[in-house]
Amino acid sequence: MKDKSTYPMGEGVIREGDLYKVVSTYGKSFELRYGYYEECDRQSPICEPVVIYPDFQSEPVYTDGGEPFVTLMQDACVHYKGDAELCEDTSCAECRFFKSGEEWFGICTAYENRFKE
Ligand code: SF4
Repeated sequence: MKDKSTYPMGEGVIREGDLYKVVSTYGKSFELRYGYYEECDRQSPICEPVVIYPDFQSEPVYTDGGEPFVTLMQDACVHYKGDAELCEDTSCAECRFFKSGEEWFGICTAYENRFKE
């Protein structure tokens, strides 16, 4: 039976928890590791570990200037401004307030979302 915690990729084997890379952008660094977004994926014999991106909606991180970090695939918020219809499939990537950084990271430049003490 296949070991669900590993799978071959190229010459190496990717395991849950392995480091993918460290991304530095807008003054902060983020460690990206392989894992599963859902427990059912971990249990599935056909699911392999994927790169896990931070969930900035549940755990916000801000630049030193107070802008929140977002990812391209993050669900759009109520301050979304763009040409797409705001629905559950709309993401920050389509928003005019999104300013891209490294990898799939970016920051939100909407004043309403800035860190306020
Ligand atoms: S970029 Fe900012 S304003 Fe635009 S949808 Fe994302 S969080 Fe909201």
